[in-house]
Amino acid sequence: MKKVIGLLILLITLSCAGISVFAAPEDVPDFIRVGISTGSVGDSYEASSSEGFALYEYGEGDIIERAYFPEITNIVIKSDEEYINIYPQGEEDMPPICSYNNASKYFIGSTDMSEGIISVSGKNYRGGVMLYNSSGDTVRFINVINLEKYLYGVLPKEMSSSYPLEALKAQAVAARSFSMGNINRHNSLGYDICNTQCCQVYGGVSSEVAKCSSAVNETEGMVAYYAGKPVSCYYSANNGGYIESSKDIWGTEVGYLQTKKDDYNPEYNWTAEFTTEKLSSILKEAGYSIGTVTGINILKKTEGGSVTSIEFVGTNGKATIDKSKIRSLLGSSTVKSLKFSITKSSLSSEASPAKAYVKGVSGSATEKILSGISVVDKNGNVITLDANSVVAQANTGKTTIQGSAASSGEEGIDGIVISGKGYGHCIGMSQMGAKAMAEEGFTYDEILKYYYIGITVE
Ligand SMILES: [Zn+2]
Repeated sequence: MKKVIGLLILLITLSCAGISVFAAPEDVPDFIRVGISTGSVGDSYEASSSEGFALYEYGEGDIIERAYFPEITNIVIKSDEEYINIYPQGEEDMPPICSYNNASKYFIGSTDMSEGIISVSGKNYRGGVMLYNSSGDTVRFINVINLEKYLYGVLPKEMSSSYPLEALKAQAVAARSFSMGNINRHNSLGYDICNTQCCQVYGGVSSEVAKCSSAVNETEGMVAYYAGKPVSCYYSANNGGYIESSKDIWGTEVGYLQTKKDDYNPEYNWTAEFTTEKLSSILKEAGYSIGTVTGINILKKTEGGSVTSIEFVGTNGKATIDKSKIRSLLGSSTVKSLKFSITKSSLSSEASPAKAYVKGVSGSATEKILSGISVVDKNGNVITLDANSVVAQANTGKTTIQGSAASSGEEGIDGIVISGKGYGHCIGMSQMGAKAMAEEGFTYDEILKYYYIGITVE
């Protein structure tokens, strides 16, 4: 509260001095507009609220009440070519109780915009619903909601509620800071942020989990700042042991998104297999006409170990793929991060690389592709030996182990095996690292400051 009053005094002082100021982006907004879905002119929605309805106008993170209908608990919201019309249910053939332009910032919501819940077409939303005609026949369905209550519906979608409370609190501050830094991001469509991974996944009331809501409440109003601006707290599930910088991966220098070794991120390994047939068709569909893939080369890696340039060699030419396009091309849930190496391989049945399940002294068993002769250390790391055969000695005698066929460069390849670590872009906070830090007793602000360099949390 102190901050808001301080800001008001500042605004008054500045306007007295004749300097025009915009609404300060650093001020935590009370309300946010979240894009939920898209409909068409003519759509109608049945809505109910036990507290009754009110008409509001949205402006710069705040709302103003314009009309009050506490006795009407069931309504129909109907869009036409110019207006949004509100009717009590069963009175749709009567004149609407209110009607407003479909490109205005008016919306209908519970009389209690902070605690009230409205049900629209069987789904529950906190706050209110704005229908906004963004262009042509398209009407956007937008949830106007108190920012803190919005975070209730974000947190369980962005981090497992089984994680320790301090990790969830770090994620709550990250989500709040991201929201603040992205107000007006989709303003041309009538809202601030969307409900998908483009911004932050938001599941509404039905996704809320009490433990996550506690993490939001216990950090109420806390935001991460860098150089006076809210931080866009990018994060990934696991960074493979090394935090990547925004500059190395996205090409944009961001002061708080720097590269460094992560001492807390637990190991997370994965493998993916592609036949040359599959690779050739993926490349062809993406517009790279290089014929049948005959080779693949990593051209560039970051200091943190992410592949930022890869070359596919085909019977008809070469294709170079850079940075984030690599994962979107090969499938970002298959190639889980850019921290990988490639084993050219023959994937035909008789010569396929040996697969084994390995388990270190801690952690669960993971599937590994064994190429040549490999040994497993106590942490479950697979180390491939530079030899075709080794002699293994057990207490029952010696056995010679012959390696599986290495790739034959001359005859070309019929597939590749990609072995990687980490999950996501590896920039900013590692969620699994945050979990590990919380388990070691670090607090949420210590976790955030570890992953975002030079920030303050206030
Ligand atoms: Zn978005």
